[in-house]
Amino acid sequence: MPKDVQIPPSPMPVFVAPPSGTRQGFLVPGEYVLNVTRRAFDGWLANCAADRGAEILEDSEVLRYSGVGDRLGVSLHTPGGAREVTTRWLVGGDGVYSKVRDQLSPRPLVNRAYYIQEYYPRTGRFEDWFYLMYRGDTSPIYAYVIPKRELLCLGIGIHKTAPPTFERGMVRFKEWLRDDLGFRDDGARRREGFSVPFGNVVLGEGPILLAGDAAGFCYPPTGEGITYAVQSGAAAAASVMEADPLRAYGEHMAAARTAIEAAAARTLQLSDAEREERIRTKTGL
Ligand SMILES: Cc1cc2nc3c(=O)[nH]c(=O)nc-3n(C[C@H](O)[C@H](O)[C@H](O)COP(=O)(O)OP(=O)(O)OC[C@H]3O[C@@H](n4cnc5c(N)ncnc54)[C@H](O)[C@@H]3O)c2cc1C
Repeated sequence: MPKDVQIPPSPMPVFVAPPSGTRQGFLVPGEYVLNVTRRAFDGWLANCAADRGAEILEDSEVLRYSGVGDRLGVSLHTPGGAREVTTRWLVGGDGVYSKVRDQLSPRPLVNRAYYIQEYYPRTGRFEDWFYLMYRGDTSPIYAYVIPKRELLCLGIGIHKTAPPTFERGMVRFKEWLRDDLGFRDDGARRREGFSVPFGNVVLGEGPILLAGDAAGFCYPPTGEGITYAVQSGAAAAASVMEADPLRAYGEHMAAARTAIEAAAARTLQLSDAEREERIRTKTGL
């Protein structure tokens, strides 16, 4: 990935803290994450696609599809007005609120989580690391700290069926960071949040394949979805060249699907003792 898409610090080692605290935490050997802003990253991805011959319709939206013989008709809203395209295969890579998925198999609320993050002036004893932190009274899923330039991005995953609320969880998270790492709350500069998939992976049906968040490829214990989005998008594109695309796609993505669905099934049930055990024995959350 080009340097100008990344923001400092990047790359960052990954630090995992169990419920008992950061003293018991550790750096994950050989793991690094890149720090980006989505605007620059998404622009770079779009340019990569255009360089490989894709036609990009900017500010356009898929509204619906319909079957026409062995072709699909796809209705688009574009700045130039309504447009219809026909295609043999449709890959829905249109995110967690995918219209393609909604038409095929809408995602129930229970299969969504929400990540809300706040940006604070950088205080405390933080390294240039990506901190993954697990404690049930802070988040039923996980919490994280990402240094971004001169700020710290504090985020927590929340779920409608499990406490705590975002407000309560964020108060406890900041207390945890104060006690363990000397964080001082000088006031949030910005807050942002969005839904992410939580289990229930749907690969598609007939001539329609779903990729990335539209399918549900996001790993609940870490909120990691970008790698899966890239992998599943590439696998879906390769699969449409096969005799049975849906089957080929299912085979490409079988391991990811199993891992994500198993993690979604256990995450909200874990006690702190179980989180501690899974982290210490490196079983994986
Ligand atoms: C707060 C937060 C923090 C996160 N942090 C991380 C992280 O650190 N690392 C990580 O790996 N993942 C992270 N994720 C998850 C990650 O953002 C997603 O899993 C990933 O972006 C999914 O990629 P995607 O291409 O499937 O969907 P998206 O990135 O959502 O892209 C979908 C695209 O489709 C377009 N679109 C939507 N509807 C239509 C339509 N009807 N017609 C045409 N186009 C449409 C959208 O404009 C968008 O460009 C985070 C998520 C959140 C909410």
